[in-house]
Amino acid sequence: MDIIDMLKVQSLHTYYGLSHILQGIDIDAVEGESIGIFGRNGAGKTTLLKTIAGWVRPSQGSLQWNGHALAEVAPDRVCRLGIGFIPEDRRIFPGLSVDENLHLGLMQARGISTADKKAAVDRMYKRFPKLAERRKQAGTTLSGGEQQMLAMARTIVARPRLLLIDEPTEGLAPMIVEDIFSLIGELKREGTTILLVEQNMAGALAATDRFYAIDRGRVILQGSSASNDDQQRLMEAIAV
Ligand code: ATP
Repeated sequence: MDIIDMLKVQSLHTYYGLSHILQGIDIDAVEGESIGIFGRNGAGKTTLLKTIAGWVRPSQGSLQWNGHALAEVAPDRVCRLGIGFIPEDRRIFPGLSVDENLHLGLMQARGISTADKKAAVDRMYKRFPKLAERRKQAGTTLSGGEQQMLAMARTIVARPRLLLIDEPTEGLAPMIVEDIFSLIGELKREGTTILLVEQNMAGALAATDRFYAIDRGRVILQGSSASNDDQQRLMEAIAV
């Protein structure tokens, strides 16, 4: 039997100091699923992604990825287990060129030859021709949309099996928003499992199979992204 990728989050609790942010989250995802995470500002969406990525340690609960318990695992090892995180603020390294930023995405990759690394970066340049044109330019001099593409390319260059994407279209022009959703669609078709936090609800529902709505650190609703009834329930659940 083929083993398929599986994320399972159970009763997850996370604190920042004394603030109890995630208050018992349960979510799961199987290989190739694309899942939207919705909720009002401050609901805990980013904290959920950061906890899975190992940036924040949960205080309680279980976080399983393909049988590995992630709760105590450091971010670099989470990367090596095939989980890529594209944070909301993009974290383009100042002072580094586009090319150097892309190579940094391969830093965690062990046992890959220099030739294979070059081939992986070249694949990104084929996929993102704008980045190829600007490969020598400092990453932080790119436009907002290009920086988002660089942040995505820097993560997918390592071929993660699970991608955590935090608000990728925030503040970007409509045409670039379309490009980003079409890239997310391509990654899904290639079999990547995706957790997407996104304020653009229409775009995110179209790009996902299922969704969870989070409020005050708890899942308050889950549903099918294509179902009109579930969409209606979602709007009602997270209406401000
Ligand atoms: P948004 O859409 O505004 O990004 P979100 O659902 O992603 O919201 P989080 O960023 O996870 O929410 O934040 C959840 C709560 O945790 C908020 O009340 C926020 O102020 C608080 N918070 C976030 N980061 C920290 C931190 N480093 N230290 C203390 N509190 C934090």
